Amino acid sequence: MVNRLDPFDALMAHRRETEALSEILGRLGWDMETVMPPGAAEQRAEEIAVLEGVVHARRTDPRIGEWLAAVVPADELQERQAELIRRDFERNARVPATLASALAGAAARGHAAWAAAREAEDFSLFAPQLQDIIELSRDRAAALADGGDPYDAVLEDHEPAMTADELENLFGALRPRLLALRDRIAGAGKTPPGFNRAFDDSGQLRLARQVAEVFGYDFSRGRIDRAIHPFTSGSWQDVRITTRTSPAHPEECLYSTLHEVGHAAYEQAIDRRYRFTPVGRGASNGIHESQSRLYENQIGRGRPFAGWLFEAMREEFGDIGIASAAEFWLVVNRCETGFIRTEADEVHYNLHVLMRFDMERDLIAGRLSVPDLPEAWNARFLADFGLVVDSLKNGVLQDVHWAKAAFGYFPGYTLGNVYAGCLFAALKRDVPDFDDALARGDVSPATGWLRANVQRHGSRYMPKELVERATGSAPTAAPLLDYLEAKFSEIYGP
Ligand code: ZN
Repeated sequence: MVNRLDPFDALMAHRRETEALSEILGRLGWDMETVMPPGAAEQRAEEIAVLEGVVHARRTDPRIGEWLAAVVPADELQERQAELIRRDFERNARVPATLASALAGAAARGHAAWAAAREAEDFSLFAPQLQDIIELSRDRAAALADGGDPYDAVLEDHEPAMTADELENLFGALRPRLLALRDRIAGAGKTPPGFNRAFDDSGQLRLARQVAEVFGYDFSRGRIDRAIHPFTSGSWQDVRITTRTSPAHPEECLYSTLHEVGHAAYEQAIDRRYRFTPVGRGASNGIHESQSRLYENQIGRGRPFAGWLFEAMREEFGDIGIASAAEFWLVVNRCETGFIRTEADEVHYNLHVLMRFDMERDLIAGRLSVPDLPEAWNARFLADFGLVVDSLKNGVLQDVHWAKAAFGYFPGYTLGNVYAGCLFAALKRDVPDFDDALARGDVSPATGWLRANVQRHGSRYMPKELVERATGSAPTAAPLLDYLEAKFSEIYGP
């Protein structure tokens, strides 16, 4: 008797090895940004390129097509696994290998050129590389779109089943109310208090660790290190986060840690039976960002938890120069117009994203040219924010995404906020007394609800379906807007 492996088992065994290799690749990246010796950059680039080649070859292995053709899923879970593998396989197959490697090379050069242009405040040092990246991205998008909208095709890289039209509707609903709220805040003439003493690094890191623990980050399967741009890396038994400190702004360290803890807690909470399979990862960028933003903002910057954090800060640092928990809440919810997306408050943040969404669609569609980009950026920024951009670093060169050919990535940030708004409203409905627990520093009723309704499912469901199952209705922008208007009216007046 010949014992032949069932096609589904063969498919999953192959995928499992590919996932393990991807994890190793991710860990090389983590190491590069945290503890790698500075002189090792060249060697590391070669190591990563080789492993990337291996992983790419595995993802396009023709046997996957044969197994998929023969698979008869035994249940809905197997059907979902096969569906996710088929989606990846077909998308990879549509892009010629020469185009994929040309784009990867252009993006690698783009990153270096972007950094140099930023440093020298000279856009012309980046423009030729960006031109290449956009042209190759357009070719790739056209190949993926197969006659459809090219921007929808790149969006699919980060947000499955989302379309530009749908985003336009969602963002169209956000924009007028966000602008009205922003104007109201600016017109209120209130200047919230801020910190005016220095806070040592080691104290900030100790407190960051404590906050991560309180939010259920499992240190037996994770660790915190420092990085220039905080990020989260890994899955299942090894999910690492990074943070940074700033002497005058301890809240940046604490809240960026909390943000990464949201990403990490999600990956740590995914059903362990899904490990190393396609459903064993976060459902999309938007869903991932919904978890990190909920931890950071709706929960972390809410009054009850801010009260707990105020006491924890005083325990760590003594007199922090802020008189009360109520005043501390104002400090961490300060709302101010600024140039930088990553430093923006909850109101301005989405305006930064909406602007990038419109501009990158124009770039991919060819309606906006690279030489015109800096001026177009500055004009749009003036119109939306009322500020004259004073440098490229504060303008079009602040984000690395386009230099890495990550078109379609930006909208996920605001989509995450929209999903977070929906989930937070449902959490309040289902767990009415979670605020009392938060005030005691017990976040488990809130995170427990998120774990049960969102996190454990991984990619078992499509992003919108996941939100709908958790909340009982299709996602809309209204809950986020209601939340922002209520919170900031309380601070800045009606
Ligand atoms: Zn994030």
